[in-house]
Amino acid sequence: MRGLPAVHRLLEEPAVAEYGVAFGRETVKRAIEQVLDRARASGSERSYESVVADVVAQLNDARLRELVPAINATGIVVHTNLGRSPLAVEALTAIDRIARGYSNLEFDLSAGERGSRYSRVTEALRDATGAQDAIVVNNCAAAVLLILDTYARGRETIVARNQLVEIGGGFRIPDVIARSGSILIEVGSTNRVYTADYERALSPRTALLLRTHPSNYRIEGFTSDVAPEELVRLGRSAGVPVVEDLGSGALVDLAEYGLPHERTVQEAIADGMDLVTFSGDKLLGGPQAGIIAGKAHFVAPLRSNPLLRALRVDKTTIAALAATLHLYLERTSRDRIPIFRMLAATLDDLRARGAAYVDAIAAASLVESMAYVGGGSLPQAQIASLAVALEVSEADGVAAALRRENPAVVARIEKGRVMLDLRTIAPEEDAYVIATVLRVTNSSVPRR
Ligand SMILES: *Cc1c(COP(=O)(O)O)cnc(C)c1O
Repeated sequence: MRGLPAVHRLLEEPAVAEYGVAFGRETVKRAIEQVLDRARASGSERSYESVVADVVAQLNDARLRELVPAINATGIVVHTNLGRSPLAVEALTAIDRIARGYSNLEFDLSAGERGSRYSRVTEALRDATGAQDAIVVNNCAAAVLLILDTYARGRETIVARNQLVEIGGGFRIPDVIARSGSILIEVGSTNRVYTADYERALSPRTALLLRTHPSNYRIEGFTSDVAPEELVRLGRSAGVPVVEDLGSGALVDLAEYGLPHERTVQEAIADGMDLVTFSGDKLLGGPQAGIIAGKAHFVAPLRSNPLLRALRVDKTTIAALAATLHLYLERTSRDRIPIFRMLAATLDDLRARGAAYVDAIAAASLVESMAYVGGGSLPQAQIASLAVALEVSEADGVAAALRRENPAVVARIEKGRVMLDLRTIAPEEDAYVIATVLRVTNSSVPRR
């Protein structure tokens, strides 16, 4: 068909050529040819600008299917769908230093012989948790699986009925136990569990007593539970290891941040748990990882389980985890970890930042908001926050347009308004978010 632009001309178009940097020229060329084929097939007259717009839209859609950065304006601090914890600059620097070249990942520099990758982070984990020994695997699900496989295959694992949690993303305690080849023995009722329930279930077939964190739900009302130290006492007298899956794994008392107290890893260790498992990228604020901390003679068999090879972490995880743990030593350095900086921000901090939004965007006002910790911890704990509310005629359309930007801006919709919660937006992202909102609201939707 005459009138359609040539491929090479479209390739030179700045808005199109930009994608060549990320995708390579061949991919961009293929997208152009596909758009031209469709235009030819439809047979209708096309302006040059509309063909360019189609090519850009197709390339942008392709970009959005890949892993791209996003700005979290949802107010959920540890947002699993948005990559959980952002890393501290110190962790990024450590990754850069280690991944850019070679390292002593599995090389003992003092002896000049083969070493263990796991030992690279043992000391930092011991210091942070108070445990005798620790090991790190791919994620907390892997940590639980490794323990079950090592200790409970073909034998029984006792879990209270009020702890049979589904975390989401396919992780359900009963299914993981079944998958590991262990036999789940449920004790108690949904709302009440007693020591006697455990005592009745103990038998020579018992391999483990497992306590799990009810991450994302609470049972309220007529309830009773067995205290962790009581479970430890039971396990000790029966000669059965007691394991606690903490999930989020707080290493500091969240009450310091005005939140309800969340059981810490150190408390679980101090209560005498033989092994404790928790994630690296939830309340720890580090990279995706699963940490197992506990008594040395219970960690040792995990090290020699061949399954560990399939669950092992790479050098970037070890580098980032160690760097993050080093920041915990003092409150001032800990608050350089992004999730703690977000939790620590005062309403005055947020109000000052919000003023810049209201000044720049006519449709914006500053409203009270509630942020959440997320990451399957403290499901009911709200954190007072402030949000920029955009009063626009098509909130869904504006939110969708913000998600198509690069970096994407992921907002929340409330009462027909687009809400940008300031607690989870980094201060250094403010200028970009303001500019993006202005561009998107001016071009796609009329102001109120
Ligand atoms: C989140 C969670 C897990 C899974 O952790 P991942 O690191 O995502 O694998 C396991 N157990 C509990 C209690 C959790 O909250």
